[in-house]
Amino acid sequence: MEIEKEVKKMTLGHEFGAGAACLKCKDKCDGFELHFWRKICRNCKCGLAEHDVAMNSEENKKVGKLFEDTKYTALMAKLKTDGVPSYQGNMVAITLPPLSPAYVLPPSAAASVVPPSAMAVRYIELLPPEKRPVAGTEGAAYRRQQMDRQLPEHDQDPSKCHELSPAEVKLMQQFVRKYKDEALGVGDVLLPEEMALVKAGGQGEGEGLGGRLGLEGHLGLEGHLGLEGQSCRHCQQPMRMGEPAVYAERAGYDKLWHPACFVCCTCNELLVDMIYFWKKGKLYCGRHYGDSEKPRCGGCDELIFSNEYTQAEGQNWHLKHFCCFDCDRILAGETYVMEKDKPVCKPCYMKNHAVNCSSCQKAVDPEAQRVSYGEFHWHAEPQCFKCSGCSKCLVGQRFMALKSFLFCSVECKKKIMA
Ligand SMILES: [Zn+2]
Ligand SMILES: [Zn+2]
Ligand SMILES: [Zn+2]
Ligand SMILES: [Zn+2]
Ligand SMILES: [Zn+2]
Ligand SMILES: [Zn+2]
Ligand SMILES: [Zn+2]
Ligand SMILES: [Zn+2]
Repeated sequence: MEIEKEVKKMTLGHEFGAGAACLKCKDKCDGFELHFWRKICRNCKCGLAEHDVAMNSEENKKVGKLFEDTKYTALMAKLKTDGVPSYQGNMVAITLPPLSPAYVLPPSAAASVVPPSAMAVRYIELLPPEKRPVAGTEGAAYRRQQMDRQLPEHDQDPSKCHELSPAEVKLMQQFVRKYKDEALGVGDVLLPEEMALVKAGGQGEGEGLGGRLGLEGHLGLEGHLGLEGQSCRHCQQPMRMGEPAVYAERAGYDKLWHPACFVCCTCNELLVDMIYFWKKGKLYCGRHYGDSEKPRCGGCDELIFSNEYTQAEGQNWHLKHFCCFDCDRILAGETYVMEKDKPVCKPCYMKNHAVNCSSCQKAVDPEAQRVSYGEFHWHAEPQCFKCSGCSKCLVGQRFMALKSFLFCSVECKKKIMA
């Protein structure tokens, strides 16, 4: 215990969110306590995002860091001018007429050239209602949860990872550099007809927009501004005149998406704050871009940069992280049971997860033969799986079940249930 505390102090110094109540487990969790390498709460095993923590400043720091040292630095800096490239995606609030909610906007939507509020509000309205990032609604909770899921801090910052070797740190830095140079971007919200103007106008004119979008100024041959042939890259349906579309610079401005169609190709979730990773013609969220490049550890959720790792149960694991989800005992060479996709050692399984035999009331060993019927279970042995009336062994026989009672025949059933 003491050693574990020490290790925790040394590696993950921050105690952010400590003690926060779990919104999912309520009273069952004594408050957030960071597991020293799993990135989840030791008490209830939920993530930090499930706990009641004010994430705004942490999220902003995270996204600021993600775009630090990229060509988007300027865009981020423009949105906040205190020196460090920062980000205030979820702080851009637009006040609408009384009684309307305050909208929370991705920066590029807010920074658009047309009357920003109208465009941004229209952009939000085009999202599914339960996913609109409106402060204090279900959509805000969705955004927060996706922020946590799609952009793991430990995919961008080696210091957020647990005990990396110098070689692993180097590989990770190269990985981060590569995606910042080749894949990472933020969507631009624009009317398609505006984009056509930008394209037609070329470099000289569209000072603000052209500059901001980093257009090279070469014109397509489509001098006319029609929307013919412009369909959403995701759903293939046509775009509508006067409705904002999302563009991704990495994809090229010849491609566009309906706001609700700007989703990750793997998880199909709305790309949080329009932060995307572009690879081989597809949009990914940060997590799934990472997964497409590297194996991810099923224990600590970090990408694996070491050559040595193990594959078990359809997942990848750092050698030292294939351990019991309940007690952290290393499982190499041990008997374990998969419980909700997580390996659990046999003692913990017996203590915390095993089902009890309806006959003898004892926990059923994971390796033992058992019979299950609805929510009832029995040892598949003559002394447990037997007729409640005449005690005849029912293993391999026809039987009737009534709650936890078993019968060999209607006669025995009548005898007991009468
Ligand atoms: Zn919880
Ligand atoms: Zn908890
Ligand atoms: Zn679409
Ligand atoms: Zn995804
Ligand atoms: Zn791991
Ligand atoms: Zn255990
Ligand atoms: Zn039994
Ligand atoms: Zn019987």
